[in-house]
Amino acid sequence: MLIAIDGPAASGKGTLARRLARHFNVPHLDTGLLYRATAAGVIDKGYRLEDGAQAASIARGLALVDFDEERLRSREMGEAASVVAAIPEVREALIEAQRRFAARPGGAVLDGRDIGTVICPEAPVKIFVTASPETRAQRRALELAGRGEKVDFAAVLEDIKKRDARDAGRSAAPLRAAADAVTLDTTLLDVEAAFAAALRIVQEKAAPTHG
Ligand code: C5P
Repeated sequence: MLIAIDGPAASGKGTLARRLARHFNVPHLDTGLLYRATAAGVIDKGYRLEDGAQAASIARGLALVDFDEERLRSREMGEAASVVAAIPEVREALIEAQRRFAARPGGAVLDGRDIGTVICPEAPVKIFVTASPETRAQRRALELAGRGEKVDFAAVLEDIKKRDARDAGRSAAPLRAAADAVTLDTTLLDVEAAFAAALRIVQEKAAPTHG
């Protein structure tokens, strides 16, 4: 069971991916963490986020374990991640590890921006998760507040819109739904309803076709 989940920031894709992975008892990779960890490494070394050669070298050296999620999930790191993620060499450096993860014999769930289009175009199940920018900003603000960050809703909404524009507008693997992805709009759905809808999509895609 290989499931590819893509969507914009704070669309609920991470929560869905984790729930689906638990349900099907397969490993889950949050690929955003790879870009966040690359950005953190670049900042720690004092390089510029736009320095493609250094950022790619840090991306190549990442281990897929032991991420300091507390730090990586901050607002600042999400923003920095979307800068390094636009650099083609960085994306190239991270492809193989993601594909290896996706090729695990029992299957896997990966979530990100280009899983269905670039990393696993062969995935039998692709879900593109969306929600309105206001709903996503609300969710992100709650999440940040829950982690003790000071949040200003307008600034979070601004961040989300900026990140959407950067992720969808870049030339390297821009954020977009794969042609064979099913779109799931979670604007009006709570976590349970979104999970139930995702499960239906998986079951429909995985069911043998008749006739
Ligand atoms: O999903 P998350 O918000 O953690 O991702 C942080 C940033 O990393 C995104 O805004 C995007 O620029 C980048 N990213 C990407 N491709 C992925 C996952 C994340 O470009 N597969």
